[in-house]
Order: sequence, then structure tokens, then C-alpha cells
Amino acid sequence: MKLDLLEIQPLESWIKTKKRKPLVIAGPCSAESEEQMLQTCLQLKELQVDMLRAGVWKPRTRPSSFEGYGEKALPWVKAVKEATQLPIAIEVATPQHIELALKYEVNVLWIGAKTTVNPFNVQEIANALRGVDIPVMVKNPVNPDLALWIGAMERLYRAGIRKLVAIHRGFSTFQKKRYRNEPMWQIPIELKTYLPNLPLICDPSHITGNRELLQEIAQKALDLNYEGLMIEAHFNPTLALSDAEQQVTPQRLGQILSELKVRLVTTDNLEFLNQLEEIRAKIDNIDRELIEILAARMALVEQAGEYKRENNITIFQLERWDEIFRTRPEWGRKMGLYKDFIAEIYKLIHVESIRKQTEIMNKQIA
Ligand code: PEP
Ligand code: MN
Repeated sequence: MKLDLLEIQPLESWIKTKKRKPLVIAGPCSAESEEQMLQTCLQLKELQVDMLRAGVWKPRTRPSSFEGYGEKALPWVKAVKEATQLPIAIEVATPQHIELALKYEVNVLWIGAKTTVNPFNVQEIANALRGVDIPVMVKNPVNPDLALWIGAMERLYRAGIRKLVAIHRGFSTFQKKRYRNEPMWQIPIELKTYLPNLPLICDPSHITGNRELLQEIAQKALDLNYEGLMIEAHFNPTLALSDAEQQVTPQRLGQILSELKVRLVTTDNLEFLNQLEEIRAKIDNIDRELIEILAARMALVEQAGEYKRENNITIFQLERWDEIFRTRPEWGRKMGLYKDFIAEIYKLIHVESIRKQTEIMNKQIA
């Protein structure tokens, strides 16, 4: 993928941050009243958060849920901005939302996960932002599609937005597991390899969907060198009109933040660097062996393919793959490896084996 988003500006160029990482954005899921906003945000200011957040228009799955107070909530947003002297971010999904956000002097906009999925929507937003110098944060699309996320960023960039941020809020999956939205960390990591200058922020609230898991997800984001966190907070989460289970009191947020361990990206400790280099050299050797072993396995697969062809037998043998998928993850588990990890590897091996053997079968036809 060729990307030319070189002029994306670093966070420090447009927001006064504390020297220490991470950047913290906090605030309620939804702006519910001026009192709720002030109560919550004045406490957040005490924690020295860098930016506030609040939902004004809420894209809810069902129309019976609370959909935000809309324009009526914007004076409350402005009031907390003035009372705290902190920048505030809200979600926008239409050109009309943008017009109103600008009218009420909102500092930062974000595009929600349910909007990022739709290129028509994102283009309309980008068009409405042409010529406006405002930071825009783009949440990942609800489905695990990196290209859609990047595409949204490109549309905004082409409209002249340079203060861009990506927010990782997890991906919707068919099966509900531990998290409300599966983190799928490899997707934001891949995004960073394409766009190393794009600030990346984690939203543990929407990943976890519950307060208990916030700490571990926030920590993992820092371990992966994310620039910041967006966490939902409410002065009394039990009263919250949306996402009550995942919001925390400002006091609890303070605790979470104080327990986070901020890692160093690098060090000039020579002993550490030498040790690390040694370990990496060993990993390089193992990787070479791993690839040699994969090549040897594929050579045997080809041999089996030739043999099947000579005997006019189908490539795909269900019982054989059933056995492989049953046994290999179990072998892995006995060696202390995560079963799903081995299962994923064997899915890839399976696809490649079928591809190889199909090639062999086709050779015969040609
Ligand atoms: C939110 O931030 O409150 C929100 C609606 O998030 P998302 O777009 O990630 O679902
Ligand atoms: Mn929310």
C-alpha cells in the first residue's frame, strides 16, 4: 500500500501535553446535563487530564436507546470548556454536526466507529472540513478492515486535515468473548507500520465494555507504545444514560492512571542493549530454521499432491485436516503455547497446502 500522508502533525505540535506519556482524554460517554458535565469534568481537571470528551449525538444500535441530547448539549460542552480551560472533543457524523460543533467552539472532533465504516459518510465529513484547521481523531471501523480505517484518514488528509489521530476502540465480532470489542492488536500495529507518524490512541472503555478490564488494556496499549488513552468517566456511572457498565468515576480513573507503568522506548544502558542484541540474534537463527522447516513441510505436501494426482484422489481430505486441527493445537498446549495461536498457524498452512496441490492438479490439465 502506497501512502503519502507525510505531513501529519505530531500531537505535541497542537496540544499542550505534560512531559510524561500518555496523553489522556477523558469524559462521559454522553453529555447528559450541564451539572453532570461540570461535576465530572472539574474532577477530571484535578487529575491533569489533557483533553475532555463527551458524546452529543450517539449512534446507537437500537432506536429505543438514548441517542444523545444533540444541539441542546452543546452549551454544556462550551460551559465545561470554559470552566476547565481544557480542550474538548465530541463525535461528529454529518456536515450539520460539524457546523454546530464549530459554532460552539469545540476544539477537537472525532469520527465514530460506526461512521468510519462508510466512505460516503466520511467523504461528506471531509468535504465539510475543507479549509477548517481542526484536529480530527478517527476511530477504527467496527469491522476489522484496516484499509477502511486508512481510507478515512486519507479522505480527511486530502481535505487538508493535518492534525490527525487514530483511535483504536476494538472490533465487533460475531462471537462475544472476553471483550465488548475484540482488540485485534495486530491491526493498529500494522497501521503504525504504514503510518509511523500518525499518533495512535487506545480507547480501553469501548474495547472492554466493562470497568474491571480497563487497567489491563490501558497497560497493554502503553506496552505497545501508544501515544495516549481515551477513557470514559462519569461522576456517577450508575446514573449514566449510555455505556454505564464501562464508565468509571474520576477518582477510579486517577487510580488507574497512577498504576500504569510507562515503559521506555529505548535506553542507552549498554548492558541492556548488548543482552537484547544477543537474544535477537538467537531469534534470527530460530526464524531461519522455522522457515527451513516450513519449506521442508511444503515439499512433502507437494509430494503428497503428486501422489494424489497419480491416483486421481481429491486434494482436500476432510478427515486428515480434522485430525491435524485437533492434534496440533493440543501438542502446542502441552508445550506451553496458546492453542488458538497454533490453530491460526495451521489454518494458514492449510490454505497454502491446498494452493500448492491445486497448482499440481492444474499442471496435469494444462
Ligand atoms: C463513544 O466514544 O462514545 C462511541 C460511541 O464510540 P465508538 O464510535 O467507538 O463506538
Ligand atoms: Mn460510549
